Amino acid sequence: MTADAWVALVVLPLLFLLEGLLPFYAGRRDRLRHDARNLGLGVISGLVGAALTPLLLLSMAVAARQGWGLVSWLGLGAASGALLAFVGFDLWMYLWHRANHRIPLLWRLHRVHHTDPAMDATTALRFHPGEILLSNLANCLVLPLLGMTAGLFVLYKAVMVAVILFHHSNVAVPPRLDRAYGLLLVPPSMHRVHHSERRAETDSNYGTVFSIWDRLLRSFRRRDDAELIRFGIGRFAEADWQRPLWLLRLPFVSDPAPAGEVPS
Ligand SMILES: [Zn+2]
Ligand SMILES: [Zn+2]
Repeated sequence: MTADAWVALVVLPLLFLLEGLLPFYAGRRDRLRHDARNLGLGVISGLVGAALTPLLLLSMAVAARQGWGLVSWLGLGAASGALLAFVGFDLWMYLWHRANHRIPLLWRLHRVHHTDPAMDATTALRFHPGEILLSNLANCLVLPLLGMTAGLFVLYKAVMVAVILFHHSNVAVPPRLDRAYGLLLVPPSMHRVHHSERRAETDSNYGTVFSIWDRLLRSFRRRDDAELIRFGIGRFAEADWQRPLWLLRLPFVSDPAPAGEVPS
């Protein structure tokens, strides 16, 4: 099993417990069924990601052998090179996420992640396998261009999984802690706005690990009344659309709120 899968195995049960003890949105019902459905889709997407791992490793190995990538072109040392690749890849994740909201074809796949009406830690695993396929193929180009090493990529993915599980979670994090954490990393308060049913809010807060990109690139939004945020996308928030098999066919259904439009 990969390092990020081990991180998920440890962090998910902890967050599930905290979501029960200290929920931000109280009164959630059917948590087990909700979470099992997200995990079901997460396992399918995880298998697609695992099948593409050899291709990612090959792309990084070829780049290393040929001396390709920003790290070697800039002549950086081990520590500064690792920092550039780590932070640079997170910037790529931000840009890719933003493209997923802008480009209608990508949005059809990515909206599966946004149709969860009861966001919690398991929503971090709710991705259509088609989105995982495309993002991994794009990564086969980006990782060699950056000069990312396999070891550093494993570390990035392990950190990323812990951070995204936490920022999707329904845990009532004390506001001061959330604010301090949010100076560097994407906190739950920020990502809740991204899952709002209001399109203008959905199209904000694209950060994955670091919170700086949204501030630098003017896509940061905050809400002080996050307890009033409603999650989901129109009719796709309804009960039937929460089943894994329905979620798999959701990208092929006509969109009630095309990318860039505000749903009624
Ligand atoms: Zn999104
Ligand atoms: Zn999300």
